[in-house]
Amino acid sequence: MRSRIFAQPGVVLFALALLAAPAIAQEYKSGIVWPEPPVVTPPPYAGPVAPPEDAIVLFDGTNLDAFHGGDAWKIEDGVAIVRGRDIVSKESFGDCHLHVEWAAPEEVKGRGQGRGNSGVFLMERYEIQILDSYQNDTYYDGQCGALYKQRPPLANACRKPGEWQTFDIFFRAPRFKDGKLITPGYVTVLHNGVLIQNNTRIEGVTSWTDPPKYHPHPARQPLRFQNHGNPVRFRNIWVRDLMEREDANDAAVAKRQAELQAEAEGPVEAPPVKD
Ligand code: MG
Repeated sequence: MRSRIFAQPGVVLFALALLAAPAIAQEYKSGIVWPEPPVVTPPPYAGPVAPPEDAIVLFDGTNLDAFHGGDAWKIEDGVAIVRGRDIVSKESFGDCHLHVEWAAPEEVKGRGQGRGNSGVFLMERYEIQILDSYQNDTYYDGQCGALYKQRPPLANACRKPGEWQTFDIFFRAPRFKDGKLITPGYVTVLHNGVLIQNNTRIEGVTSWTDPPKYHPHPARQPLRFQNHGNPVRFRNIWVRDLMEREDANDAAVAKRQAELQAEAEGPVEAPPVKD
């Protein structure tokens, strides 16, 4: 017997609308079977880490004027609470040491990626994941301290929800020339003083939907802090801009290498003079 449901015009229109709908974004999975990062209990929080003399303070507890969109986040008792949108630093950075203090919400809500999710996007596109990974399972390359979807942390060094935690991120920015990648980016991360990324090569933009890929961009780009719908708290954010020093060191090395190369090749003999 023919099903009567398909005879209804409304049902036919609905089916056609479904066919015409754009494809739903699919999650990218690398297929790599990562071993589980061990849980490593970090030392207790020792209080805010004062910025060194050459640091640029992005948030000292008073305001988020250093960020586009900073007005959206709530500031309370010297703490910035994620709300409504990402915030993006007005200044741009390449190689740097970035210090961030953050805390997942004390009241545990949600699970997996839905619990205490935020993130630090280096150059707006390479995410070091912030997540409440304290007794909260998720995919390893998406847990706290992962280079998102590229590399799990070497340890799960999360403190309990509500406790202050530190990220010290040491970043070498990728270098591009004439629209091509010359050197990939590298990142090292201390989470609560525990090494969790050790000179990890960045394979490209971190994305939920796409495999990592580099898209050439300027040498310096802003820092972005993610709104993922969870009221993660931040304080004491500072950055040491190291790009000029790294570039000057690289130039000094290149100069010496050129000298050694020239010495190895010996003096260039002048062509014989013809009479
Ligand atoms: Mg995130």
